[in-house]
Amino acid sequence: MRQYADLEEIQRNLNAGQLSCEAIVSDYLSQISKKSHLNAFLTVYSEEALTRASFIDTKIQNGNAGKLAGLVVGIKDVLAFKDHPLQAGSKILEGFVSQYTATVVQRLLDEDAIIIGRQNCDEFAMGSSNENSAFGPVLNDIDNTRVSGGSSGGSAVAVMADMCRVSIGSDTGGSVRQPASFCGVLGLKPTYSRISRYGLVAYGSSFDSIGIFGKSLKDVALVLQVISGADEFDSTVSTTAVPAFSSKLNQPTLTFKIACFRDAIESNGLQLEIKETIQSKISALRQSNHQVDIIDFPLTEFLLPTYYILATAEASSNLSRYDGVRYGHRSQQTHDLQSMYKKSRSEGFGKEVQRRILLGTFVLSASYYDAYYTKAQKVRRIIRDKTKELFSQYDFILSPTAPTTAFKIGENSDDPVQMYLADIYSVHANVAGIPGISVPCGVDKTGLPIGLQLMANDFEESKLFQFAELLSTLH
Ligand code: GLN
Repeated sequence: MRQYADLEEIQRNLNAGQLSCEAIVSDYLSQISKKSHLNAFLTVYSEEALTRASFIDTKIQNGNAGKLAGLVVGIKDVLAFKDHPLQAGSKILEGFVSQYTATVVQRLLDEDAIIIGRQNCDEFAMGSSNENSAFGPVLNDIDNTRVSGGSSGGSAVAVMADMCRVSIGSDTGGSVRQPASFCGVLGLKPTYSRISRYGLVAYGSSFDSIGIFGKSLKDVALVLQVISGADEFDSTVSTTAVPAFSSKLNQPTLTFKIACFRDAIESNGLQLEIKETIQSKISALRQSNHQVDIIDFPLTEFLLPTYYILATAEASSNLSRYDGVRYGHRSQQTHDLQSMYKKSRSEGFGKEVQRRILLGTFVLSASYYDAYYTKAQKVRRIIRDKTKELFSQYDFILSPTAPTTAFKIGENSDDPVQMYLADIYSVHANVAGIPGISVPCGVDKTGLPIGLQLMANDFEESKLFQFAELLSTLH
């Protein structure tokens, strides 16, 4: 398969008549079937994508094609696309077909992107390894005995293995950045209110962000530009003007001030090669006149508990709609309304989703509400305030994306707490609502990708892209 640096290069070839969207789609389709063992796609829209490709080829010839002409995109199985299946990786939505199209998907289509298929993920986006999917795990393309990361595992592997150019995933606590780091691709979680969540299956609504996977920063920036901005269907989206992210790349390098948290980079739980990678990046940054300070962030130990209390509380409420009445799976073994609810939910939801619903219902129950839910809300506010305070002194926070490279399938699946620890670095951005990106920065001794994470202040994605570019070129 011919490799292109970015969509711009593809479009140059398309406009010169040396390439067609049909040829691009055919290439991806053959790669998808060659790599079907990775289990990245749940449904491939082969014919539809080819038909659309030839339609867009005509638009290119007529000179009226949109900004994303030639871009082949995969979407995580949590995004609604009218008349296409949508299951959130769960048995409970077996047979469900979207009634409408998510705002992000519509905006991609309006600019002539081609949607090639629906991608595997952890059930209701709960997980860090894609092992909680009702459709089985996604395999890492570098080592098929290892996980893809999660929950957007299919989306990450699809980009990694050239099954599409860009994927759209969702990130509630790290689900774009962590699999991106395991798969050696870029993974962006924008500012919480940047992108409309209309048509995104809800997990923890106050944390859920739609995110982007790609191999080129320019592509990621352009897609962000297209899908961001106010939407009458989601009142939480900011009306802040959307900058031309893609044209702000390649600016002259500024000098940045960067904070690294001591416990994040010195922790014993951090894989040695990741520790070495971040240390060498810090030295290289200092040598190029950037200021890097190793500081203490006193709230690190509260990040995971705050996230797992609030996200599960929100999930228990969000997932109450799957009751066997309105849509999805309904148990046949029922004799009254109560047993229909119980049986439908027990049969339809997997173990991890049930665990989270139980946990979330517990922290919201009358006797424990103040001790857990209210307290976690207060801690969340303190974390956000302290984080914002840091950005009055620093441009970025630099950390590993995850404590390890891709682990073995099955390695953590019997120990939920061990699995939750995979999110130790990534939940911060969601708890605080700020943007974060995982940037591929080399490999460990077995050749598995290492990702480093940059976080910036609200709405500073442009700066994040500039620094991401710098970080990936600095040695
Ligand atoms: N791994 C985290 C969780 O299981 C994050 C998931 C996500 O971002 N959707 O909740």
